Amino acid sequence: MLPYGHQIIEDCDIEAVTAALRSDWLTTGPLVARFESAFAAAVGAAHAVAVSSGTAALHAAAFAADIGAHHEAVVPAMTFAASANCIRYQGGWVAFADVAADTLTMDRLAVERVLTPRTRAVIAVDYAGQPADLDDLIALVRAHGAILIEDAAHALGAWYSGRRVGSIADLTVFSLHPVKQMTTGEGGVVTTDDAAFAARLRRFRNHGIDADAAARHVLGSWEYQMLELGYNYRLTDVQCALGLAQLDRLPEWLHRREAIAAKYAAGLRAVPEVEPLSVRQDRRSAWHLYVVKLDLERLTVDRATVYRALRAENIGVNVHYVPVPWHPYYASLGYKRGSWPVSERAYEQMLTLPLWAGMSEADVDDVLTAVEKVCTAYRR
Ligand SMILES: *Cc1c(COP(=O)(O)O)cnc(C)c1O
Repeated sequence: MLPYGHQIIEDCDIEAVTAALRSDWLTTGPLVARFESAFAAAVGAAHAVAVSSGTAALHAAAFAADIGAHHEAVVPAMTFAASANCIRYQGGWVAFADVAADTLTMDRLAVERVLTPRTRAVIAVDYAGQPADLDDLIALVRAHGAILIEDAAHALGAWYSGRRVGSIADLTVFSLHPVKQMTTGEGGVVTTDDAAFAARLRRFRNHGIDADAAARHVLGSWEYQMLELGYNYRLTDVQCALGLAQLDRLPEWLHRREAIAAKYAAGLRAVPEVEPLSVRQDRRSAWHLYVVKLDLERLTVDRATVYRALRAENIGVNVHYVPVPWHPYYASLGYKRGSWPVSERAYEQMLTLPLWAGMSEADVDDVLTAVEKVCTAYRR
């Protein structure tokens, strides 16, 4: 089965990890800071703070934004649950916003409809790798005295209006899970241009302990102070060794993803039952996912049947995502189905085709052949 996403691990990765294992440091050592500087430079941010997962990065961002029990945050209904869960970790309330039908990113009007005086943050998700409407959302949060957290778990390497994702929002969150553009096994990064945010993020990942270990060393003191309630969300030196090795090949991998997406777009023009998402003129997607919508009017079967038929052809299609407020946990908090019609309709139509940098031309052709075969078989 051709998976929808997969990491690339080569000899240079194995050598880098092996060298780290042979060093004096397994967890926080010199490679964490080196990885953070290289990552910050790659996305054009002043600060990068590495943590143990994208979910931990979202939690840290929600903490740095000071979200508390009396606050709300706006989150798109069409995303992975972690985008919303980080607000719940902080005790805040999630206001789900609908998305635009052609990009499945949150738009300004949908956000405006759910803003309240308690809204402290907007979490924009760069769905499938395409940046959300960042300038509109920044204008909106500024006017509202709120903070823009960008969940760029899909969008490492994306561009928006001539700027790199990671250098635009108040806080930008990345995931280094193996299906994302590059990996550290598990891992995440928050980038920001704000030194105060960066200091709080560093403290949060280490139990809330005053981060300045170097100063302690100079004093020769065993003392340290835990200033606020934090977690152990540290990324290890071993993982950062892998991250540094992967980061070198990121530009090449992004080009490969872009080329595969272009080949899909060209091939799918011959299949009227399948509609790819739009990419706006002023942005460059990082192509985490290749999501298509099925035109169910043109088919005799539903999405589940098309999904099973493609899997029977060994094409590991997937679905991203069940609308977050539909999950039993969120339903139990009182969210009602039917409140996000665009996300909910898109969910019934969507399929994710395999897309990762290690796919061969033959893999891409196999996907296109299978999609055409299945759609032809179920054509109305
Ligand atoms: C992958 C992902 C996350 C979580 O990242 P992990 O590294 O798996 O914790 C968060 N948000 C979105 C949109 C994601 O796709």
